[in-house]
Amino acid sequence: SKNHRLSTAAALEEPITPPVKVSHTKLLINGQFVDSASGRTFPTLDPRTGEVIDHVAEGDAEDVHRAVGAARKAFDEGPWPRMTAYERSRILYRFADLIEKHNDEIAALETWDNGKPFVQAAQVEIPMIARLFRYYAGWVDKIHGLVVPADTAHHVQVLYEPIGVVGQIIPWNFPLLMFAWKVGPALACGNTIVLKTAEQTPLSALLVSKLQHEAGLPEGVLNVISGFGPTAGAALSSHMDVDKLAFTGSTETGKIVLGMAARSNLKPVTLELGGKSPMIIMDDADIDKAVDLAHFALFFNQGQCCCAGSRTFVHESIYDEFVEKAKAKAERRIVGDPFKTGVEQGPQIDEDQFNKILRFIKSGVDSGATLVCGGERIGNKGYYIKPTVFADVKDGMEIAKEEIFGPVQSILKFKDLDEVIQRANATPFGLAAGVFTKSLDVANTLARALRVGSVWINCFDVFDAAIPFGGYKMSGQGREKGIDSLKNYLQVKAVVTPLKNPAWL
Ligand code: NAD
Repeated sequence: SKNHRLSTAAALEEPITPPVKVSHTKLLINGQFVDSASGRTFPTLDPRTGEVIDHVAEGDAEDVHRAVGAARKAFDEGPWPRMTAYERSRILYRFADLIEKHNDEIAALETWDNGKPFVQAAQVEIPMIARLFRYYAGWVDKIHGLVVPADTAHHVQVLYEPIGVVGQIIPWNFPLLMFAWKVGPALACGNTIVLKTAEQTPLSALLVSKLQHEAGLPEGVLNVISGFGPTAGAALSSHMDVDKLAFTGSTETGKIVLGMAARSNLKPVTLELGGKSPMIIMDDADIDKAVDLAHFALFFNQGQCCCAGSRTFVHESIYDEFVEKAKAKAERRIVGDPFKTGVEQGPQIDEDQFNKILRFIKSGVDSGATLVCGGERIGNKGYYIKPTVFADVKDGMEIAKEEIFGPVQSILKFKDLDEVIQRANATPFGLAAGVFTKSLDVANTLARALRVGSVWINCFDVFDAAIPFGGYKMSGQGREKGIDSLKNYLQVKAVVTPLKNPAWL
């Protein structure tokens, strides 16, 4: 088709020069940008070409230890947990203002390092980050204790205190959004932080963290380590002086991290892991709108979303028409340089993910699913993959069971509501689900029956700082965003005082 020619050409063109320079490549420890203790660096790559953007300091156990020490001192002795809630709140508001002020610069760096469309970063993600910091800035002076009417002899107070030094490990698919989901509530509660970015995308968090000083965060409160999972990530997870751990990434790594936390100091862990989310299209749906929504649910962010609607369940009475239209929609998707206006899909994050996705596509074909369109790379450099659609996908196939994390839509057929509920829930995951129907009855039935943390009815991927997000089953533990996220970062203390001087005083 015409558009495929366009997208193929776009991927083969010389990459557009990003409208930003890399300014920060060192580790941020105790308010200073420093080299790693080992002196080692690692390259961070441009997914459009596979070429090196820059070399970044490679933090490992020793750097994590230094950063935890700085965060410990800032927590035990520094002003952050001791200042008034109003002062802390104002710092977070200023942080949000500064992020907003540097919106396009930050977005350009995010696109360069990650490959996501620049408009998506600039118009959706970075504004969401500013919004999130303001949301939590608003909470700071509204977190307060309780007086509990326990008995008539005692005054019982319940105090909410910061939990201490927080370790946070984030993935590469939404580098800064994940940074904000983690850092926002932890700071609001008065904690100090050591955050490890994903090795694929270290740049944007360093740029944003630079702004913390201008915002007024005291030194040592927010430390950022670039580095790899088995070294820096493991050191943070097993550190004896980290009081709480928050992780987003694969279910497999989540298990490892949880084990390390348990074997070290039993630090509590929140996990936001993988998914295989159903997108259920009922027979009363407007087919064109359903096709558009199911397309968005899967292809958004190059398919690299933990909550991607990666099992498109379509009622048998509209199945064939839906598949035809889903094919046409996928073929119209414009793939190319993410800095180019109008491009909807950039490259996948790196060679490993690119190869993994192509392996899944081969597995789909081998297992007998119908490859409706796509199925191959675009161009001969970088990590571009054609929007791919499979029909006649069966529940037992690998592509229906495992997280592909790429632009590959699997369309499954169902007959009735009970059947689709049973099949939608027949997965170890439980992150999200989409429902498309005109019937309130069906919508309400599905909303209650689906064992997932988010149900989007006649919409998908609606995110806001106030809406909690997280998984049932092996998609995670705990919730991020909203009021629920605060609980992850607070300790609860009961203080009991007799109302009258007891006899023994
Ligand atoms: P990953 O889980 O290995 O990486 C996520 C983070 O964990 C990174 O910061 C990484 O450095 C760190 N990490 C890795 N090994 C670690 C260890 N032993 N100890 C401590 N930290 C460690 O994910 P990945 O390899 O980048 O991607 C693999 C798959 O994970 C993807 O294909 C996708 O299915 C899934 N994934 C899910 C999400 C999500 O948002 N839920 C995000 C990224 C990837």
